[in-house]
Formats: sequence, structure tokens, C-alpha cells
Amino acid sequence: RGTPALQVIERTDVADWWPALGASSEKYARGVVGVATGSATYPGAAVLSVAGALAGPTGLVRYAGSAKDEVLHQHPSVIATGRVADAGRVQAWVCGSGLGTGEESAAELRAVLAAPVPVVLDADALTLLVDGKLADRLRGRDAPIVVTPHDREYARLCGEMPGEDRVAAALRLAAWMNAVVLLKGDRTVVGTPDGRAYVNPTGTPVLATGGTGDVLAGLLGSLLAAGLAPERAAAAAAYLHGLAGREAARGGPVTAPDVAAALRPVLARLA
Ligand code: AMP
Ligand code: MG
Repeated sequence: RGTPALQVIERTDVADWWPALGASSEKYARGVVGVATGSATYPGAAVLSVAGALAGPTGLVRYAGSAKDEVLHQHPSVIATGRVADAGRVQAWVCGSGLGTGEESAAELRAVLAAPVPVVLDADALTLLVDGKLADRLRGRDAPIVVTPHDREYARLCGEMPGEDRVAAALRLAAWMNAVVLLKGDRTVVGTPDGRAYVNPTGTPVLATGGTGDVLAGLLGSLLAAGLAPERAAAAAAYLHGLAGREAARGGPVTAPDVAAALRPVLARLA
């Protein structure tokens, strides 16, 4: 096998890919992202993934899950329902952060996967894929899948840690699952099923704190719902999330809500 096509994500790429807002823009035309995350045990994951989604370019965020009250309290612009099946039309789903791994969570994941739209699968959705031995059964899904494992989630999916060559690791999983893989960590990489890879240069260890991955998943879902190709959505989300971590660190120690809030000034400078 030859050297894979490898691209370092650059600011100009992300600015080019970001959807332009025009005078005739309308909220549905900007895209609707569905967020199926959180649980009674982890309502914060829902709040954070929705915060990431709201920072993105879509015109509407729908939330489906059991942290409805917390989400609406923090984010009144969201339309919230209890179940994925009741959420209405979306152009992409984000599923998994803090979702839980019980039968009800599995049913919600199945509902997300049944929708003919791109999906982001993170955290508990990845565990559910492994537990249900579903990972290699998604190969035939028509709409794109983006999985966002950190190293331990990667190991659960693949049976081994990513190792030194993170690009090769991401590409292996991408080819096996027929999904775009955003392999998170100190060197975040994005790999596609057809062997292309992106390396993110903006990472910062301040992101190594609870909940930042949930923000990333939400932002990525918004980019998918806005119509970006899955590998571009993943690359752009990783790039902007890294910059938001750096921006947030200017104000002192960083928590995940700070990263979500810092996406706004980062995006303001992107234009
Ligand atoms: P999660 O583990 O799902 O909460 O996601 C953690 C987020 O922080 C991901 O976006 C990682 O890429 C990022 N992250 C974690 N550790 C580091 C690190 N040492 N350097 C840069 N980014 C990191
Ligand atoms: Mg996570």
C-alpha cells in the first residue's frame, strides 16, 4: 500500500467549507441538527453537545432524550422531545454522549441509525455498537457515519490501542466500518474509508477535561446537517474545537462550557 493522501487542516480550508449566510437564508434551509445524547445520570452531556451544535452553522437544533428539562433550561432556542422517533425531520443526528448503554439507549441508537441522514456516533453509542456487535453491520448504511472515539473507545472498537501511527490507526477503523473516523487525542486525526486523512494542528492539552468531546460531537453534527461532506465536517470541527480550547485557556483553567462559549469568538475570527 502506498502512502495515504495526508492533509494538515488549515484555516483557509475551514473558512472555505463554512457555509455562507446570505440575505435569503432561512432557518430550515440552514439545516436542522438532531441531538440524541444525555440521560438522567448524565444530563450535562446533553447540555454540552447541544451547546456545540448551537455554535455551528445550522438554523435549528432538535434535542431528543431524557435531559430535556436541563437542555431547555440552558438553551431555550432548542426544540426538545423525549424520543428520537418524535423529534421530526433533521438533516443529521448526533448520538451517544452520556446516553447510557441500557436497552432504551440501544433503541434510541437504532432509531438514529434508521434515519436516512448522516450521523455522528460518540461515547456510549460506540459502546452500544460493540456490545450489540453492530460495528461491522453498518457497512451497508447509505448515509454517512462519523465516529469520534478517543483512544480507549478506539481500542474497544478495534481490539487494540491506536499505537504510534495514528493516521494508519484511523484509516484501519475507517475502512473496516466504512465510516469517517475522528480519532481524538493529543494528535487528532480524521480518516476516510477510501484512505484519505487529515491531521489537526490546533489541539491543546487544556481540552483534556470532562465534557469537551461532547461539545465537539455537537459542533460536528451541525456541520453535517449544514451539508458539509463528512470528512470536511470532521476536520473543520476538530480544527475549530482546538482553537476554542486555546481561546478558552486565555481566561484561566478550562472547563467544557468554556470551550463551547469560546467557539463564538473563534468563529467570528474565521470569517
Ligand atoms: P472526550 O475524551 O470525548 O471528552 O474528548 C476529549 C477532547 O479533548 C477531544 O477533542 C480530544 O481531542 C481532546 N484532547 C484530549 N486530550 C488532549 C491532549 N492531550 N491534547 C490535545 N487535545 C486533547
Ligand atoms: Mg467523550
